[in-house]
Amino acid sequence: MASLRLFSTNHQSLLLPSSLSHNPLTSSSPRFVKNPSRRSPIRSVLQFNRKPELAGETPRIVVITSGKGGVGKTTTTANVGLSLARYGFSVVAIDADLGLRNLDLLLGLENRVNYTCVEVINGDCRLDQALVRDKRWSNFELLCISKPRSKLPMGFGGKALEWLVDALKTRPEGSPDFIIIDCPAGIDAGFITAITPANEAILVTTPDITALRDADRVTGLLECDGIRDIKMIVNRVRTDMIKGEDMMSVLDVQEMLGLSLLGAIPEDSEVIRSTNRGFPLVLNKPPTLAGLAFEQAAWRLVEQDSMKAVMVEEEPKKRGFFSFFGG
Ligand code: ADP
Ligand code: MG
Repeated sequence: MASLRLFSTNHQSLLLPSSLSHNPLTSSSPRFVKNPSRRSPIRSVLQFNRKPELAGETPRIVVITSGKGGVGKTTTTANVGLSLARYGFSVVAIDADLGLRNLDLLLGLENRVNYTCVEVINGDCRLDQALVRDKRWSNFELLCISKPRSKLPMGFGGKALEWLVDALKTRPEGSPDFIIIDCPAGIDAGFITAITPANEAILVTTPDITALRDADRVTGLLECDGIRDIKMIVNRVRTDMIKGEDMMSVLDVQEMLGLSLLGAIPEDSEVIRSTNRGFPLVLNKPPTLAGLAFEQAAWRLVEQDSMKAVMVEEEPKKRGFFSFFGG
């Protein structure tokens, strides 16, 4: 069986940006290229003193989806969204998860959500009244579709969300650079609504066979809807389990789904801690490994870049997850 074969790999996978085919820190090739339009291999790794260059037309409308619940969509929306804001881009995050709305909680904004999209559509409030501006990063705003635990209101579907996205584009203060949509689990009406206005997708999955099956199904549905730009984030990666052959490696996941890799996020107890505090991980000081991985994923999203999971022979045994940084 293919799935069993995937578990039995005796390699471990390390992660490199796609522009790197070798370790830049040990390579004899020049570190800086004179032509700025050519992407320097080192640039993707050493990102000090520069901001990512925004690729593609704005607003970039990105849906964060998965199929399976509990894999990290909302965590990704909060952390990637705030990273984009910290890079200086204006961001509107839409919580399209009706039944289990919790993006406001992760962001610590739950007490400030007075109006939602439903009231905007009903004409009970203006759009700017439903937008909750983050106090830490004023270029980040949250928009919730409806009140927690409420059902999808009658008539509220893809068209209504598209109307709201158009309204965001034509605000007097200007269109946001990014509109990111936190999609509900499953593939029913809520999913269809969330993906309708999007023109690109981040598929979040964990390295387990149930999440992968759902991710594969969702990829097909996204493609049917005309969303061709689909990148994946592999979340809750545990190198100890990969080494023990108890978990699929990121490379295994990539081979199964055949999608470009935006990021690989390690399992990190800080994620749960930050969720409970309403203080997204990427704001943590000192930074954590998962927080840094989310920041890197956001960077690649901006530049429409991706990374590669490469097979590295087990030898030498002492090499670790990020060993290519230190040589
Ligand atoms: P979804 O939106 O897909 O349902 P969530 O983002 O709400 O998933 O995450 C589900 C749970 O998993 C949360 O309790 C969250 O804190 C936890 N979680 C997500 N990513 C990680 C990670 N990398 N390490 C540890 N816990 C994580
Ligand atoms: Mg969620």
